Formats: sequence, structure tokens, C-alpha cells
Amino acid sequence: MNKKHKITIIGSGLAGPLMASYLSQRGYEVNIYEKRQDMRIHKQSAGRSINLALSKRGIDSLKDIGLYDKVRSKMLPMAGRMIHDIDGKQHMQRYGQKNNEVIYSISRSFLNKVLIDHAESKPNVQIFFNQKLIEVELNKSKLIFNEERKIVPFEILFGSDGSASPVRNSMEEISSINFRKIPLDHGYKEINMPPDLAGNYRMNPNALHIWPRGNFMLIALPNTDHSFTCTLFFPMLGELSFSSIDSENKIIEFFKMQFPDIIEMLPNLVEDYKNNPTGKLATVYCDKWNYKGKALIFGDAAHAIVPFFGQGMNASFQDCKVIDQMIEKYEGDWNEVFSNFTKNHKPNGHAIANMALENYIEMRGLVNDEGYIKKRELELKLELEFPNRFLPRYSMVSFHSLPYSEVYKRGEIQSKLMDEFLAGKINQQELKGKILKKLETIL
Ligand SMILES: Cc1cc2nc3c(=O)[nH]c(=O)nc-3n(C[C@H](O)[C@H](O)[C@H](O)COP(=O)(O)OP(=O)(O)OC[C@H]3O[C@@H](n4cnc5c(N)ncnc54)[C@H](O)[C@@H]3O)c2cc1C
Repeated sequence: MNKKHKITIIGSGLAGPLMASYLSQRGYEVNIYEKRQDMRIHKQSAGRSINLALSKRGIDSLKDIGLYDKVRSKMLPMAGRMIHDIDGKQHMQRYGQKNNEVIYSISRSFLNKVLIDHAESKPNVQIFFNQKLIEVELNKSKLIFNEERKIVPFEILFGSDGSASPVRNSMEEISSINFRKIPLDHGYKEINMPPDLAGNYRMNPNALHIWPRGNFMLIALPNTDHSFTCTLFFPMLGELSFSSIDSENKIIEFFKMQFPDIIEMLPNLVEDYKNNPTGKLATVYCDKWNYKGKALIFGDAAHAIVPFFGQGMNASFQDCKVIDQMIEKYEGDWNEVFSNFTKNHKPNGHAIANMALENYIEMRGLVNDEGYIKKRELELKLELEFPNRFLPRYSMVSFHSLPYSEVYKRGEIQSKLMDEFLAGKINQQELKGKILKKLETIL
């Protein structure tokens, strides 16, 4: 066993304090540096979404660090997508076929605060707020913070400093890490749907609501105070876009036309639309996540993704679990841990990034497409006939912990087989034979 190095983590967002808890369980001393104020004391805008969809991969990690019991009472189960058509009709598409196959809505600020509390409750973890990392001298093992350029030495550096990661930038400066940030031409804006006058939810709280409108969509997730947070995903530029819908009249007209069933339920629509920021979205593909045995990036710093599979945080939490398993396997040899994490896990980051982009097309349009619905019915039938072998891609992502790259490969094989069957190119017998041949059972 190597000497127990002191670990420095940059970023106390969702992934940083979780990783600190894992490391502390293994006896490491951890210091976290966060640029923002302590969110438990100073109220701040969440910056990102108000609430998040939490699923199996994230839950598994919360269980590992002993935080699940504290979080579960605040998790609101969503059993499926409630699709809202333009004529006001609604129908539910369940996420899975088993009763426990649900995803959960959870408040981002609540989750972040309890993660920080949990990490800080460990005797070997310290968190320093208002510490903005501005420069890293990787070869000299030095970090430079804030305008006064305070110098802090480090032994081993973990970067969970988000999609604009300064740790990643410092790695790029001294080594070739082949990094691309690809902006999406759609952004997002949040609008609050308060409870009704009696204090009740205005819509079914056991669903993730979607208003698919082809080139854009509105979604809504429930909150524990009986409100919903609605998010409009919309082009940044163009005829119908954030740049064109820019006045009170246009906002009201647009919502009346596109979302007539809820406009009356959004009393603060115009204020929220005008005052809430328009968030930008991007995908980060990075081909190397470590610098020797010295520094490692994980979470959004390594693989920021668009939010359409509800997996960015779940993937970041799974990173922490995988890193922890590697620390055990390689007995804390950081060279081995970091290089193997990059090598084995990077394809998973790329796979979920691609699936998240594909899911935007599905959510904003395909969910109401006849071909999509037929294929979905077929995959559910095949799942019943071949449980553990033929699992819908959504289920593999959300209800299993199979590596995302394997999910992607299996999803492609399944999709191709279903297309061949639905196009009449293979019969039922052949379809079943190919499933048995091409898809191993999932344990
Ligand atoms: C609109 C939206 C909806 C989403 N919905 C979901 C969802 O439903 N389910 C899901 O799983 N994921 C979702 N995500 C993704 C999720 O928010 C991210 O994947 C997750 O926050 C990643 O955690 P992280 O710790 O890597 O990064 P972050 O949570 O971004 O944390 C990074 C931290 O680093 C700090 N930091 C940055 N720079 C510095 C610096 N220079 N010095 C010191 N500290 C610094 C930041 O202040 C921050 O606290 C969504 C994202 C968006 C934008």
C-alpha cells in the first residue's frame, strides 16, 4: 500500500463532495476548494436547473457513502413521461414495465447541501469556500487562488470543477488532451408553476411532463413544495427562438399557441421568462482525463453533456464509484488508478454524451411519432420475452449500472433488429434467433 497522499479537490458542486466522502472512507485526508460562497449560508441561484432527475447510478453512489436514507424522503418518483399534445390531450408513457422502474425528481440545492454537509462531517475532510482557482502549475504541484494569487501546494489533484474546468485547461496546457466543447444551438429557461390556491400540485406529480413541439419542447418536474419547475428548451436564434420571443405580447402569444393547457397555471410567466437567465448547453468530449498520476478530472469537467437523458449528475456520481473501485484495485497507486480510469471509463463518457443528444430528438418530437410508438411497443414485448437479454435502452441507462458504452452498443444492435423486423426484412422466428445470438444475458 502506498503512502496515503493528501488529496485536493477543486469544486464543491455535486460530484466533488461525493468523491471526498468516498476518499475519506478510505482514510485519505481531503481538502476541497470552491469558488462560490457556502450555499448553506448564502442563498444563491442554483445556476443550473432547480431540480434534477436522479436514477440508479446516482442512487448507488449515495448508498455507498451512507447518504441515501437522508435523501430518499425528498425524492419524488416519476413513473413516466406525461405527453401534452397541442390540443390539451395527455397520455402517459411509462419509463419501465416494473413498478420500481421509476426515476426521481430531487432539488439540486438540497442535494448539494447534504452532500457538502456529509463530506464536511468527516474528520478528514475540509472545505474552503470563496476560493477561485485561477491557475495550476501542475509540474510544480502548485495551485493559485483568487485575485491575491494565494499559492497552495498539492500532492494529488482531483478536478470536479464543471464544464469550464480550469484543472482541465491546465492539463491541456502541458499535455495533449484533445478536448472539444461543442455548444448546442438550443438553450433553456426555467419557469415556475406554483401550487394551486389550495396548495396542491396543478398536474400529476408522478410524472415528468413533456410538451413535444418538434423543434423545441417544454418539460416540467415536480418539487416537494407542490410546485413544478418548467423548462423551455428552445433555439437560441431563428424565427421561433429566445432571440425572437422577446416581449410580453410575444411571450404570451407563444405560450397560448404552443402550451394552451397550462398558460393559466403560470401566473409569473412573463416575469420568469424575462428575469430568469437563458442557460447555454454544450457537450464536452475530452480524450484524456488524467495528467500522469498527479491530476484527474471527472464529472462535467471530463464529460459535460446536454441534459436530455437526465444523466449528467448520475454519470458524475458513477465516476466517483468507479474511481473508488480502482483505488481499491490498484491499492492507491495513482498512476494506475488515473490511467485506468481514463482508459476504461472515457468511452462511457462519450457514449452517454451521444445518447443525451439523441434523446433530445426523441423527447421533442419522436415520442408522438407512429413509428416510434410501434418500435417502443415491440421493445417492451421483447423485454418481457427476453428479460435480462433484451432491455430497452432507456431502461439500461436509468435502471441498470451497465457501462454506458455497452448500453450504446446493445441499443444499436436492438434498434437495428427491430427496424429489420418492422420493415418485414426478417420474421418473428429470425428476430428471436438473432436476439439469442447477438445479445448476451445481462447479469
Ligand atoms: C438544465 C440542466 C438540467 C440538468 N438536469 C439533470 C438531470 O435531470 N439529471 C442529471 O443527472 N443531471 C442533470 N444535469 C447535469 C448536472 O447538473 C451535472 O452533470 C452535474 O452538476 C455535474 O456535477 P459536477 O460536480 O461535475 O459539476 P458542477 O455541479 O457544475 O460543480 C462544479 C463546481 O466547481 C466549482 N468551480 C468551477 N470553477 C471553479 C474554480 N475556478 N475554482 C473553484 N471552484 C470552481 C463551481 O462553482 C461548482 O460548484 C442538468 C444540467 C443542466 C444544465
